[in-house]
Formats: sequence, structure tokens, C-alpha cells
Amino acid sequence: MKIGFIGLGNMGGPMAANLARAGHAVRGFDLRAPLPEGVAGAASAADAAAEAEVVITMLPDGAILRAVAAEVIPAMARGAVLCDCSTVDVASARWLHEAGAAAGLGVLDAPVSGGVGGAAAGTLTFMAGGTEAAFATVAPLFEVMGRKAVHCGGAGAGQAAKICNNMILGVTMIATCEAFALADRLGLARQKMFDVVSTSSGQSWSITAYCPAPGVGPQSPADNGYRPGFAADLMLKDLRLSQAAAAGADADTPMGALAAELYRRFVEDEDGAGRDFSAMLPRFEGRSRG
Ligand code: NAD
Repeated sequence: MKIGFIGLGNMGGPMAANLARAGHAVRGFDLRAPLPEGVAGAASAADAAAEAEVVITMLPDGAILRAVAAEVIPAMARGAVLCDCSTVDVASARWLHEAGAAAGLGVLDAPVSGGVGGAAAGTLTFMAGGTEAAFATVAPLFEVMGRKAVHCGGAGAGQAAKICNNMILGVTMIATCEAFALADRLGLARQKMFDVVSTSSGQSWSITAYCPAPGVGPQSPADNGYRPGFAADLMLKDLRLSQAAAAGADADTPMGALAAELYRRFVEDEDGAGRDFSAMLPRFEGRSRG
């Protein structure tokens, strides 16, 4: 397939490289990032998009996505598919669907989970919103870049799934970290805490797959000095997106709101910037009540 790939950063770079390695003709564009192996360079975003059957974007946020899309959409051939894999606000995702459809394009919002490791290994999970036809066109590319792709529904459904999932993740990570810190003060060994909770009703991915306590449970960023992994900054971004979506939909999300505020403090007022999001555990360890 002829693919245009715009945004070749930490995630987009390895995703584009995997598509090229699988034999697709990939033309890439980024303002800064180097060209991945096997990817041909384009002079602009519009140039990367011009002859593509599928254009994939992997960009920092909704405002940048809208600016890039305004350039790319007029350059694309009618019937081609524009697939945005960035994590952006639901409103920008819906805008993209409308702007693309008005130009005769198929559009998908298809954010990912799995992080930089998953992008490099081709094991991402894609959650996609858009038409059946657009999903069917891009499905073989999802197979190359990922292990699983779920067609979640119509416009914006992929972003909705992503931010709901990450709201649960932020809340459960905080709950797991504060419980470990409480267990410390109650004299309960961390290994015993893990042995019980990982097989009891307090269990979640945050403890069984990504345990925030070093030396306990599976290997995780906690065993690597809390180097990300999944940075607290990115968790804050996703929690803010879920709060913006909740405000827009008049949904009551008190735990999500508190998680967003705690990660905001951690990243902006404390030492959380650039650390893994599970570094909430050393944060709670060092704190007292009140
Ligand atoms: P990144 O900053 O490494 O990459 C973004 C790239 O976009 C950069 O290389 C930047 O130069 C490029 N860019 C910005 N404006 C541009 C423009 N106008 N034209 C062309 N290129 C432009 O970020 P990333 O970690 O690759 O994340 C990309 C997206 O994936 C984000 O929306 C992020 O939330 C999401 N995401 C990231 C992870 C992760 O673990 N890093 C996991 C899941 C989802």
C-alpha cells in the first residue's frame, strides 16, 4: 500500500519503520524527527499525503492535528483514508471526521496503547472509531503495527475508549500506590502485600503487570529508578482529556477529576515531570496526612 506517515517521533518513527519493513511504500514527514529506516522523505505533510491510499498521523495534540489535517486533507485523493493514531480530545477527533468526510475521504480516530516498546515491537493495541469501510482498509496496517485492533464504533469512539481506559489506569495506579504506602506504615511487607492483593479483589493491571513497588512483582519501571515507561506527564495529558470530555458530556467523574489534580501537582509542583507515572509510590511514601 502507498502510505503517508506524518509525525515520526517516539511512537510514529517505529510504527512507520514497521510498515516499511512489511513491504509498504511509506513516505514520511516530520518537522524535526529523523527518517526511520526504509521510509522515504517528503518535503511537506501535503507532499507525504498526495499519492497515499492511507495517511497516518501520530502527533502531539489536537491543535497540531487540526493544523496538519487542514494542509493534508485537500492534498489527498478522494476515497483515500486518513487515520489519526494520536491521543487527542474527542472534539478534535470528531472535527477530523467531518472535515475528511466533506472532502470525500474515509477517516478513523485510532489511538493506541502499548507505548514506545509496543510501537517498536509491533504489538500495539488500536482502538478505532469510524466507518466499517475505513476500518477494513486500514486493518492490514494495524496488523503490522499491532497485535490487536478493536473497531469501537463511529466518529470519536476510539478516543473515547482510550481516555476511559486511561482514566481507570490513573485512578487504579494512585489507589495502588497509596495502599502500598499505607501498608508500609502498618508494618506489612511489600511482598506480602503483593502476594495478597495481586490475587484478591484489589487486583488490577497497575499491581499485577506494572507493580509500582521496586523488587516486587514483575519487572517494571519501579525496578529502573522510575524511568518511563509511561511518563507521569503523558498520564496527566490523558487525564485532562478525559476531564474535558466529561465536562463536554456532563458526566460526573469525581475520581477521574481527583486523579487529574494529583498528577497535575506531581508533574507541575513536585518532582514528577519526566518520571514514570508509577513514581506516585515514592511520592506517597514521603508524605504525611494533611
Ligand atoms: P513525540 O513528541 O515523540 O512525536 C510527535 C512528533 O510530531 C514529533 O516528532 C514532532 O516533531 C512531530 N510534529 C509536531 N508537529 C508537527 C507538524 N506540524 N508536522 C509534522 N510533524 C510534527 O510524541 P510520541 O510519544 O510519539 O506521541 C505521539 C502521540 O501518541 C501523542 O498523541 C501521544 O499522546 C500518543 N501516545 C504516546 C505514547 C507513548 O508512550 N509515548 C503511548 C500512547 C499514545
